Parts: sequence; C-alpha cells; structure tokens
Amino acid sequence: MLINRAYKFRLYPNLKQKELINKTIGCSRFIYNVMLSKKKDNSKFTKFDLIKEIPKLCNDYPFLKEVDSFSLRNAIFDLENGFNKCYKKLGGYPKFKKKGIKDSYRTEYVKNIYKDKIYENIKIDLKNKTITLPKLKEVKIRGYRNLEYINGRILNATIKHIGSKYYVSVCVEENIPLVEAKTSSIVGIDMGVKSLITTSDGISYGNPNYLKKYERKIKGLQKGLTRKIKGSKNYHKYKNKLQEVYRKLQNARRKINEEIVSKIIKDNDMIVTENLNINKMIEKSNKNLRKNILNSTMSDIIRRLKYKCAWLNKKIIQVNRYYASSQICNRCGNKNEEMKDIRIREYKCPKCGIEIERDLNASLNIMYEGLISYYKKIYQN
Ligand SMILES: [Zn+2]
Repeated sequence: MLINRAYKFRLYPNLKQKELINKTIGCSRFIYNVMLSKKKDNSKFTKFDLIKEIPKLCNDYPFLKEVDSFSLRNAIFDLENGFNKCYKKLGGYPKFKKKGIKDSYRTEYVKNIYKDKIYENIKIDLKNKTITLPKLKEVKIRGYRNLEYINGRILNATIKHIGSKYYVSVCVEENIPLVEAKTSSIVGIDMGVKSLITTSDGISYGNPNYLKKYERKIKGLQKGLTRKIKGSKNYHKYKNKLQEVYRKLQNARRKINEEIVSKIIKDNDMIVTENLNINKMIEKSNKNLRKNILNSTMSDIIRRLKYKCAWLNKKIIQVNRYYASSQICNRCGNKNEEMKDIRIREYKCPKCGIEIERDLNASLNIMYEGLISYYKKIYQN
C-alpha cells in the first residue's frame, strides 16, 4: 500500500542560503498576495489562468527570477486550496499573507536522466547529514539519527522559517506491506478535558495539564507583545519567543500523541471515536486560548488514529457528534441530562443505580454506538 509520510529536519543554512530562503519565502508570499487580489477582482480566474501570469510578473519584478520557480507555482496551488476549502465551508475566505506568520515555501521533486546520469533536484543524504534543495544546493540537516536511508519516492519539500530557526519537511511516498486485519478487539474512545483520552477498557491516557504550562507562557508573551511598539526590535524579539513556544508545544504534543495512538492501535483492531463537536465540549471554559490548544490536540490525535489505521489495515469508526455519549447510561440506556454539566465527574444512574466514572461511561457508549453502526453497514451491503 502506498502512503505519504513526512520527514521533518532542522535545517542549518549558511548565511547565503538563509538569505535565499528568506527571499524565496518573500517571493512566494508576493505571488500569493498578487494572485489573491486578482481572484478578488475576478473570481472566475482558475489556477491555470493565474499560472500563466507568472512570466509576466517575472518581467515586471525581476527579483522573482532569482528564486526557485516551483515555490511560485505552489503559492498559486496553495491559494487554490484555500478557495476550495472556503467553497466547501471548511475554512474562511483566503486572507493576504503577512511577513512573520507561517513563513514558508514549498518546492517539488523532479528527476531527469541525461546521458545515463540521474539528476534529482531534491536529495537527502542521511550519512553526511545534508539535503540538496533547488537553488540552495547542499544544506546541513539534523534529525532521524537512527535512520540510514529513506526508502521511498520524494514528492516535495516545505522549507519553514520559524523564529530564528529553519526547518524542512520532506513528503515521501512509501510502499508499506498490507497487514491482515483481525477486527477481534474493539475499543471506544472518549476525548475530554480531564484526561485527553479515556478508553472503554478503562485506561486513561495523557493528562492535558502539560498543556497548561504552554498556555501560561503563551499568555505572558502575548501580553508582553501588546505592550511593545509594532515593528520595534523588542516586538520582534517577543514574537520570535512566542513562535518558539508554539513550536515547543507542537513538539511535546507530537510526542505524547504519537505514544497514545501507538498504544491504542497496538492493542485494538477497531477503534471508535466521536466525530467531535469539540467547541461544545469545552464551552464551560470560554478562554479562547485553552480551547484552541485542546481542539488542535484532539484533532491531531484523530488525524494520527486515521492514518495509522489506514496503514495497518485497522478500522476506525466515527460516531455522530450529536450522540449524547456522556448523558446516557451504558448499562440501562437511561438519559441523565444533568451530565451536561462537565464538572460532574461521576455518572450516577437514577434508574439502575450504576456509579461509574464519567469519561469511562462515555467511552463505553461510544464503543457500543460504533459497533451498531459497523453491523448496520455490514447488513446493508
Ligand atoms: Zn442506568
């Protein structure tokens, strides 16, 4: 089975390379913004119409010729994606890009064979710790110490500038063997604010408290930032610090989520989660920052569960988000509306008398609901 995997490296460009990376990021942002205003003038412009505009722009703005041309085309593809998301109501109307926010560009892999020699514009050498990138040539990298080589076809690479650091994420198509699915054990997953995850076999994973540390730091820095004069040296210093904290949060989250997902997948062949209405779940804490952090943590877990299940030929079932998993008694089916209050941690059923931890009750309900929808599908076909 073919899968796409991302390999992320820290990039150590020299001064000249840094300059060129920053220039390329600036140029792809420039193209993105120019094309966005063209789209605003005439929404009928397709990406092909926009791509045709590139040579003209290169004549008017010669600095565009100095950078990796793939990055310019990809800026248009990104804009197109933004519009598609917007049409499907998965995102808002694309906005103009600003310097200092999500600074990055993407380039494409190309292979040429000339006089029996293979020429590739992106190459990774894990032994010598370098990556070859279009226009930049060899750049030093760090990461994947235990890997000798990457066994797959490189598709593209995204170069990012975060704070004072540089990163590259290389997307690789790999062929992994298909595993025979057993679907012998099923587990229901409840995601919450007390434990990140509670499974129907009674295990809790991940204490979201670790997120609080980052929340505090982010809040402090944001507060500091509002007191600085926009564009001043101190302002940029604070901004860089803020981006650094976000990156650390992402790394910590990646590590913890990967562990949780690996454990759950190792032990189970069928995984049921709620198609979450996360906003509703965390409505009791109306602090936006916490909400954002938790929301992205949970969608990260679901994303990982989904692709791991696909890789390992396991099943993931998502049950309706309006399913009142925390209000229904898993033993007798009685609905207890008091449980809407998320501060009540213990489910006490007034009908059958069961006393069970709130999240465990929810995860059991989710598991049953998943099982029902699974069999419904089987019998319908
Ligand atoms: Zn009951």
